[in-house]
Amino acid sequence: MQTSFTLAQLADPDTAQSEKILRACVHCGFCTATCPTYLLTGDELDGPRGRIYLIKEMLESGQAASATVAKHIDRCLSCLACMTTCPSGVHYMHLVDHARRHIARTFRRPLGDRLLRRMLAALLPRPGLFRQALRLARLARPLAGLLPGRLRGMAGLAPAAIPAPSPVDRPQVFSAEGTRRRRVALLSGCVQTVLRPGINEATIRLLTRHGIEVVVAPGAGCCGALTHHLGEEAPALASARRNIAAWWREIEGEGLDAIVANASGCGTMLKDYGFLLREDAAWAAKAARVSRESRCSGWSANGPGGSPITRPAPCSTARAWKRRRAG
Ligand code: SF4
Ligand code: SF4
Repeated sequence: MQTSFTLAQLADPDTAQSEKILRACVHCGFCTATCPTYLLTGDELDGPRGRIYLIKEMLESGQAASATVAKHIDRCLSCLACMTTCPSGVHYMHLVDHARRHIARTFRRPLGDRLLRRMLAALLPRPGLFRQALRLARLARPLAGLLPGRLRGMAGLAPAAIPAPSPVDRPQVFSAEGTRRRRVALLSGCVQTVLRPGINEATIRLLTRHGIEVVVAPGAGCCGALTHHLGEEAPALASARRNIAAWWREIEGEGLDAIVANASGCGTMLKDYGFLLREDAAWAAKAARVSRESRCSGWSANGPGGSPITRPAPCSTARAWKRRRAG
């Protein structure tokens, strides 16, 4: 794809990166076949190729995002299914992340949207607050029909029962059964600990039975993906730095063989810490190491040598590609 950024625009590392991504796109449209929002609406602007055009125009113009661009980018689920079918290796994830930051900086949303997004950014990364919010939402369920628009939908989504907090999510060390073979840190996370605490419990049981000591490091928390996907760069990077600091203490202490995430979205975020903090001299090296050492469900390692800017691919797809290349 031809681009027309000025030299001044390309001095910005994010724009330079986005330009490289845009130039890799050959407009073939293979990605639309795997995009759930395109399949649902049939609108080109709700598919990856259409969004790529919108982002290109928005970034090249240097203007504030329009309501149309914000609408179609907001509808993107960041599921990254499009990246699995792109033959050109277009790193859509970094492109849409850049677009979200630009929208957050330049587009003034209606008051209701702003309040809702602030509420989500405040509640979701904090398990204690999120649990209280779910309790309130559960009380509001019988009245959901009286609530306006999105609040009605959110109240309807509140689970009928909220599990009690799991003791495994507090900072602590779980000893390996038998001889210790490995030592890993587990990202306990945020929303998942409230809705499905059994997932971390099962992960810890599985790892310790295989001789792996598991650390839930003090200071680690939400990976930052929730605010990152809202385009809120500062809190997302603050979460990344806080986690890196927590795991770095373990790396320098008893050592870590890996950092484990059992929610695929969080794993993708950890794999991207190195990229997100690449311009931060104080954190770049540590962030790259944490990305390299991260192991997650659902997504493969972020390319050969753990390069944080290599296209990620679902594990099954990566295996299929390897078989195809070998055969
Ligand atoms: S990330 Fe998912 S929703 Fe967004 S454009 Fe790609 S396939 Fe579509
Ligand atoms: S499949 Fe890749 S190259 Fe083709 S239009 Fe989509 S992003 Fe561009």
